[in-house]
Amino acid sequence: MQTQKLDEQLALQLIPPLWKTRVQSTEQFGSFETIDWIDPQLLAEIGQIKRFIERWKADREFRKQVAIDPYNACVLYGLKVNPEDIRPKWDKNFASSSEEQIAEQFPLLKLFDQFYDQHLERAVDVGIPISSSANSHFWAWRERQIARVGSQVKAYVHREISHFTNAFELSKGCSVGCRFCGVAAPRLNDIFIYNPENAKLWREVLENMTSILGSAFQGSFCYWATDPFDNPDYEKFCADYYAITKVFPQTTTAQALKNPERTRAFLEFSKKKNSLFNRFSILSLKMFEQIHQEFSPEELLTVKLVLLNDEAEDIKAHTGRQRERNLQEGIADKELPDQGTIACVSGFLFNMVERSVKLISPCNANERWPLGYIVYDQGTFTNADELNNLIERMIRDNMPLTVRPYDLMRFREDLKYENLSDGFQLANKVKTFKFVNDPYWSDLGKMIYEGNKTAEQITQLLAAQGVLSDQTSYYLNVLFERGVLDSEPKP
Ligand code: SF4
Repeated sequence: MQTQKLDEQLALQLIPPLWKTRVQSTEQFGSFETIDWIDPQLLAEIGQIKRFIERWKADREFRKQVAIDPYNACVLYGLKVNPEDIRPKWDKNFASSSEEQIAEQFPLLKLFDQFYDQHLERAVDVGIPISSSANSHFWAWRERQIARVGSQVKAYVHREISHFTNAFELSKGCSVGCRFCGVAAPRLNDIFIYNPENAKLWREVLENMTSILGSAFQGSFCYWATDPFDNPDYEKFCADYYAITKVFPQTTTAQALKNPERTRAFLEFSKKKNSLFNRFSILSLKMFEQIHQEFSPEELLTVKLVLLNDEAEDIKAHTGRQRERNLQEGIADKELPDQGTIACVSGFLFNMVERSVKLISPCNANERWPLGYIVYDQGTFTNADELNNLIERMIRDNMPLTVRPYDLMRFREDLKYENLSDGFQLANKVKTFKFVNDPYWSDLGKMIYEGNKTAEQITQLLAAQGVLSDQTSYYLNVLFERGVLDSEPKP
């Protein structure tokens, strides 16, 4: 975009008056659980702030222009926002201000943050009860995975990982072919068309999974190493999903511009079904400009733009194809990369074309798990009954509620063990776990560190020292629940 100097007086005429004089109190707006009842004028203003922040994050040149002359920058980029209303978003001098201070000084920004947080950041947390499940084994397994991931990735990455419970690929491969694809999607080579046979299987799979997982199944979505809009029947699959689960799945597409009318109709459709939010992946600055031209701020209110263009502030995760590129350029795997995964499922990953299922959970990508997720188990099915048996077998094999006597007891490889006078500690760059204040911890830690004994063998050895088996069992299960025991499948 061409930049030119604009007279400040003219800028002030073009930009609306300071909103903070109009928005006196945030109390009147209450909670933003749905947006339909919010004053359209306020929504328009929120949409403009969202647009400013997207531009700020996506466009290096805009960031430079704002630093020089924020009013000019807004006018030149067609943003109907007064930069003074949202100064903390672009002025580093506010970096150390508390949320309360900012909220007090910038009430409109508080409203925006409230809206954004509720609709685009924590929508999954507030909208889907995925932490509860009819299946206690699945629920406990997920809790252990979440505990493990929380001690393996940076805090900001962990906050972003929603740990959805299921993902469904409705095609094989992806037509977009992003060079940084974090899940290294292969080329598109087959599509799960909504024909009578596939539609029947789809509905049976959804019904069976709902009956196995209960409400946790609502935390699912219908893409992975695929783009939803590669499937011409994507909307029909979503409609079935909604009819059976009563929740409309969130969608992320890199093809919002491929057929804008389809995209627009899909946004309308998902809104009617109370969809929580959708996301558009932005692959270049040109695409960013086109999205802002094609869709109005109001249309994008509950669409999060995932900024993957080179000029964006966000880093590319070291996983999948980006990891391959990094390795070729001499950037090795690190114990703690800035972001080493884009995986966001602790649960089942289906490919409906292959009729396959994997049990997965995120990890930092490495040689063994180059796509940024651990595959605990996998299998194929030909019909819904077989799928039921397969899922039940995976739950039985991988999701005990407590340590089993025959389980080999070892600490996770990424944790450094250290014996202490009254116990032991396990540490990596993210977290230090201390198990102390009881001499039995020390003996138990040493035995697990050796890595060659089962739970039963450890229980017997400690029993010979006078430790009750209940006590050993309790301690082993504390470690189990904290996610510090190695649970990765054998290579
Ligand atoms: S990042 Fe998404 S859109 Fe791009 S190739 Fe991978 S799956 Fe396809």
